[in-house]
Amino acid sequence: MDYEAVIGLETHVQLKTRSKMWCGCANAFGAPPNTLVCPVCLGLPGTLPVPNEEALRLTALAGLLLNATLPPRARFDRKSYFYPDMPKNYQITQYDQPSTVGGYVEFEYDGPCRQRGPNGFPMVRLTRAHLEEDVGKSFHFERHSGVDFNRAGVPLLEIVSEPDISSPDMAHAYLTALKEILVHGGVSDCDMEKGQVRCDVNVSVRPVGHAELGAKIEIKNLNSFSAVRRALEYEIARQIAVLRRGGRLVQSTRRWDEAAGVTEEMRTKEEAHDYRYFPDPDLMPLEPGADWLAEVRSRVVELPLARKRRFMRDYGLPAGDAEVFKNDVALGDYFERLAPRARQPKAVANWILNNLLARLAETEEKPEARGPQRKRPHPLPARPSVWPACGSSLTTCWNWWDWSRPARSAAPAPSAFLTRCSTPASRPEASSSDSAWPRSAMPPPWKPFATRSWPPIPARPRTTGPARWPP
Ligand SMILES: [Zn+2]
Repeated sequence: MDYEAVIGLETHVQLKTRSKMWCGCANAFGAPPNTLVCPVCLGLPGTLPVPNEEALRLTALAGLLLNATLPPRARFDRKSYFYPDMPKNYQITQYDQPSTVGGYVEFEYDGPCRQRGPNGFPMVRLTRAHLEEDVGKSFHFERHSGVDFNRAGVPLLEIVSEPDISSPDMAHAYLTALKEILVHGGVSDCDMEKGQVRCDVNVSVRPVGHAELGAKIEIKNLNSFSAVRRALEYEIARQIAVLRRGGRLVQSTRRWDEAAGVTEEMRTKEEAHDYRYFPDPDLMPLEPGADWLAEVRSRVVELPLARKRRFMRDYGLPAGDAEVFKNDVALGDYFERLAPRARQPKAVANWILNNLLARLAETEEKPEARGPQRKRPHPLPARPSVWPACGSSLTTCWNWWDWSRPARSAAPAPSAFLTRCSTPASRPEASSSDSAWPRSAMPPPWKPFATRSWPPIPARPRTTGPARWPP
């Protein structure tokens, strides 16, 4: 009997903001551990989240670029689970009312596909893309473990696909196209080295021709597209082998061991009710207004695939040349300035791709210096306008920790949060839309663990005989 794979992907993408999702800490990579943290992203008692409006805009922009619907109302929920790297013991995410619903990604792919988009290319439909926060990162050393919370609270877009993918190669092509769209649109840098894109893979196999899906097996936390491809190749072969032996597959979560090249079972899968989702009482629902949406729409750019096809159609370029101009936006824009004035646009492309690029390589000119940069309008309103009922006490409560206070001062009393409600301008984020906290004024909350000397862990006394309780 022949089997076929059914694959869906959950892609987590860090948004390109300067500050985190619920506080003013910088969204930056590579700082010493636990130096980009504050009471809000550490989940300390008495703090309240304040949304980063640029992250809300980027989520809506991603929805538009991915052909999704933006519902008139979205909401944040709490997803409860415990991991050492999640300071609040719950994650603020979107559950039944996400910021974007539906959508699709069309891409070039030669293999068999189940869906084709409106332009005739293979297509993967999207279920939703919702906004949530990233968690910290655990590090395991020889004698102890440490947690770096610098990443905790970074805005994260989770893009969930329908199970339209049929092979590891198709998954790779889809992810590449998705990354191109988000990078071109300015939604994320999608830098794999910095962990800005991570994937969870859902894969099942079924006999060819059957409509019923097999047991869904999830592979968590794949941090490169090639790892997605290799993990899928292994897992599909493993599942088919189990079924051929007459075995049974159960819904479960596995992890990919890159070094060994195998997947290993972590746990049988939780259901949604295990997470105890409920609406976050600290956050108002989102109801984007027409002006706000118009501003986001003004930031929509031409999709990479559409740009490539247009270069091929309008200027008669071969696919290879158009591909270069698709990937190097500045170079493509430069070509577009010259091409309409040329009798043979192809000759212009040849000159740019051969002579000009060679000359630029000689002079070691940086790619950014090539031709005009793509200009994107960024009219950023001075204050958030997306929150409904702005007059209510909750939405105008600009809770924040005043880092300009003398170092080691006590935390403001809860009432201080309410008296400081007044002006949005009191929060730096609000005035400049998305600015990192003024770091100079901020005393480090405590010594970063990298420089702290850890006490030796006493050796456990050896016990003989049966264990006793209480000891
Ligand atoms: Zn923070």
